[in-house]
Amino acid sequence: MSIEQNLQSIKSSIPAEVTLVAVSKTKPNSAIEEAYNAGQRIFGENKVQELTEKSETLPADIEWHMIGHLQSNKVKYIAPFVHLIHAVDSLKLIKEINKRAQQNNRVIQVLLQVHIAQEESKFGYSYSELEELFNTQAFDNFNHIKITGLMGMATNTADTAQVEKEFKGLKNYFDACAQNYQTANIDLKVLSMGMSNDYELAIACGSNMIRVGSSIFGARNYNKSI
Ligand SMILES: *Cc1c(COP(=O)(O)O)cnc(C)c1O
Repeated sequence: MSIEQNLQSIKSSIPAEVTLVAVSKTKPNSAIEEAYNAGQRIFGENKVQELTEKSETLPADIEWHMIGHLQSNKVKYIAPFVHLIHAVDSLKLIKEINKRAQQNNRVIQVLLQVHIAQEESKFGYSYSELEELFNTQAFDNFNHIKITGLMGMATNTADTAQVEKEFKGLKNYFDACAQNYQTANIDLKVLSMGMSNDYELAIACGSNMIRVGSSIFGARNYNKSI
């Protein structure tokens, strides 16, 4: 199937209120243009250099999301244009995003990443760490960021009961936080969870933003340079 057909079939199978982020990492501009011409405007990348290069050469009305782990020293490259940063998991990073947003006269939207998977290697806050930060108003003085939601990645497993448990846990936590922690720069509306393998389950569990790559663009080949 073509990229356009893949997009159409995913879009027709998800509710209208769920935002589809087309994850274009490692894919060439021609693939992104094909998706763009089919109406897709939101794209996600996980490497700063690739994201910056693509944003400079592709249409200006694309909404670029940084979905991968972000190092503080690279925030400056994406601060002028990035629409949403998904995987924020340290105050050091928040402080830097805030600083660079201010320099660009912007307010940058971020999602806090919560560690919900069993794997050790994944990034993100634990529920208790995040609770502590909310309770101590640790985020309140960063006027140039807006925390618009939470993001999580489930365990990479065929055990759907496990994945469902993780997604439901994050949804419950998200709902509680959205109620309890409303401030000038915290307004939790977005719950980013679900990828090619598990987005249907994620939506059933309450996700309203999915990050889908290979189901749109085909499998990635990491050996080939872009
Ligand atoms: C690569 C990536 C995705 C998309 O993965 P697919 O399995 O290709 O859909 C989603 N989220 C993050 C954080 C990623 O790095």
